Amino acid sequence: MTLQIDLHTHSSASDGTDAPAQVLAVADRAGLDVVALTDHDTVAGWAEAAEAADRIGIGLVRGIEISCERDARSIHLLGYLTRPDDPDLMHELRLARESRLTRMDRIVDLLAADGIPITIEEVRAQVAEGATVGRPHLADALVASGVVEDRAEAFTRFLHNDSRYYVRYYAPDPVRAVELVVAAGGAAVIAHPYTARQSGAVTPELIEDMAAAGMIGIEVDHRDHDETDRRELRDLAAALGLVVTGSSDYHGSGKPNLIGEHRTEPAALEAIVAACSGTAYIPPAGR
Ligand code: AMP
Ligand code: ZN
Ligand code: FE
Ligand code: FE
Repeated sequence: MTLQIDLHTHSSASDGTDAPAQVLAVADRAGLDVVALTDHDTVAGWAEAAEAADRIGIGLVRGIEISCERDARSIHLLGYLTRPDDPDLMHELRLARESRLTRMDRIVDLLAADGIPITIEEVRAQVAEGATVGRPHLADALVASGVVEDRAEAFTRFLHNDSRYYVRYYAPDPVRAVELVVAAGGAAVIAHPYTARQSGAVTPELIEDMAAAGMIGIEVDHRDHDETDRRELRDLAAALGLVVTGSSDYHGSGKPNLIGEHRTEPAALEAIVAACSGTAYIPPAGR
């Protein structure tokens, strides 16, 4: 049987709704053999996830999804199996997490100025201890206070990237982020590059520059990509010698994405693991 592999999920260590151990349990129940936990800008969920992987017998790739920015546009980079004590990478992630806090204060102020009743305390109530704060937590606060029905409505009405309430936060340039991941012994894969394709945030030229900096792969199979996106990204990966991944970007009940809805070929996982020296891959029990 081919290994069933999902290389992109979120827990309550960032903006997912399941605790890290729950994500692994959900993955196991869904029939997955290997899952990557890739919380935004943090490794806070790694210890609990590793403990759960050992207990359940599911394979685990400890990862992060690094928020990057180029030309004021948000770009996400998956970093797998990096050293969790790498000073340069950890410093960069800390800056991003801290900047996300002041940024959230500003979004709340902008909403309040327009008469949308929400306080920073209500947002904080939605964030697990030590978790990376993001717009989904603000969305949850708007749900809790009855302003919107769900996260999706909150994003459509108030929180999307082109909203007047959008506030930027500190995020490294994507090429620098690739260098940081590689220097920390990890493997870098660009996440859902064509999520907002019309914005031009990610171009083939940028992907080429990231590959030249040591990036190993492209997340191609993802619900944000249509058939055209996938075909072009597959061709680009082939031209640049990059591996192709497929993943769910599971966020628990915070998004419709079902765990394992897109999966990665074992050969791609093998290439990723072979490229890494920072943190051990935990293989599934008996494989
Ligand atoms: P931030 O980290 O604050 O920039 O917020 C980005 C996060 O918001 C990403 O992890 C997305 O998964 C999430 N997000 C974006 N659009 C939506 C949506 N329509 N519904 C739920 N979550 C969303
Ligand atoms: Zn997220
Ligand atoms: Fe993302
Ligand atoms: Fe994600």
